Amino acid sequence: MKIHEYQAKELLKKFNIPVQDGVTIESIEESDNAINQIKTKFGVNQFVVKAQIHAGGRGLGGGVKFSPSEASAKENIQKILGMTLKTHQTAPEGQLVRKVMVTEAIDIDKEFYVAITLDRALGQDVIMVSTEGGMEIEEVAAKSPEKIIRELVAPGYGLKTFQAKRLVKALGLTGDLAKQGVKFLANLYRCYEALDASIVEVNPLVVTEQGKLVALDAKFNFDDNAMYRQKEVLEFRDVDEEDPTEVEAGKYNLNYIKLEGNVGCMVNGAGLAMATMDIIKQQGGEPANFLDVGGGANVETVKNGFKIILSDKNVKAVLINIFGGIVRCDRVANGIIEALSELKLDVPVVVRLQGTNADIAKELLEKASVDIISVSSLAEAAEQVVAAATA
Ligand code: GDP
Ligand code: MN
Repeated sequence: MKIHEYQAKELLKKFNIPVQDGVTIESIEESDNAINQIKTKFGVNQFVVKAQIHAGGRGLGGGVKFSPSEASAKENIQKILGMTLKTHQTAPEGQLVRKVMVTEAIDIDKEFYVAITLDRALGQDVIMVSTEGGMEIEEVAAKSPEKIIRELVAPGYGLKTFQAKRLVKALGLTGDLAKQGVKFLANLYRCYEALDASIVEVNPLVVTEQGKLVALDAKFNFDDNAMYRQKEVLEFRDVDEEDPTEVEAGKYNLNYIKLEGNVGCMVNGAGLAMATMDIIKQQGGEPANFLDVGGGANVETVKNGFKIILSDKNVKAVLINIFGGIVRCDRVANGIIEALSELKLDVPVVVRLQGTNADIAKELLEKASVDIISVSSLAEAAEQVVAAATA
């Protein structure tokens, strides 16, 4: 799960991390009020207007605007609120901006990059810092990876002070700023751990001209499987920012992830779903989605699965690959028959049912004379569905 910058900053503040603060609004009518609040609270006359979407790279896309006066802040709010913002992290068509954060403007001396995430290969959290903070960290990672300094955190031990000191030194911080840096890293790691984050990224972390270390931007990713114990974080969920089909699938308890290809997949079990996607690719096809309908596939799940898959207009053929272990194939067959008679599909459907009651399922499908391509092996299924999608 992702959250907005303004929410991320709320969380950071709870962990005593200084942030570039502001007021977030959803309509132009709230502009004056927001600007006035910032003026009184921070005693500033210069502002930054920042689009709130679940994607980075907003600055380069025109979604972050320095505003040297109240009038210009108002103007920029009007420009950004309601715009469709395209960045390298949004979908190609961009993302509608429904909220903007108006912040105090800060005089920046230096911009750093700081992030914490789990290194899955090593099984340890890794803290990364770089003096090359700002807007093009991806380029730094690609072209001069030596400019990103890492410290691994041993599980159960937490971030040690000597490690924080090493990182702060790599950023060239000395004296009081070094002290602020060590405190910042300790608090950031505490925050990352306590909130079950999978990524926290502060880019840039800035040194202000007044000699303070401040988080100018903040991004979180959270472990979805831990959200049951992170009620406060879950409150920040904004489904407007999520893929509508994935949100819909979640309501039906289907594990659905939209992909770029044209072969729709309905499979039971995450492992089989992965194998199915692999074999589709081996046949030269591209899966349109990952969809695990779970262990208890029945008429309803099959119907809902079809609806979700077909709401993706790229889908040119569907492969149903169900292995009857706990689930019985005849039930799935009935689901397919009902779904097909109700939904009137205009794409070919390849069905492979194996396992418990597969023979009964085959009979049912034959009798119902539904318009499907029935196959028995996985290889055949992939071959047929890729051929159907490219026909
Ligand atoms: P992102 O592009 O989505 O990562 O958005 P950021 O919040 O990181 O803002 C983009 C860039 O705008 C930052 O890297 C800064 O260089 C600049 N910026 C944002 N706020 C301020 C500010 O208060 N003062 C100055 N001088 N620059 C700012
Ligand atoms: Mn940023």
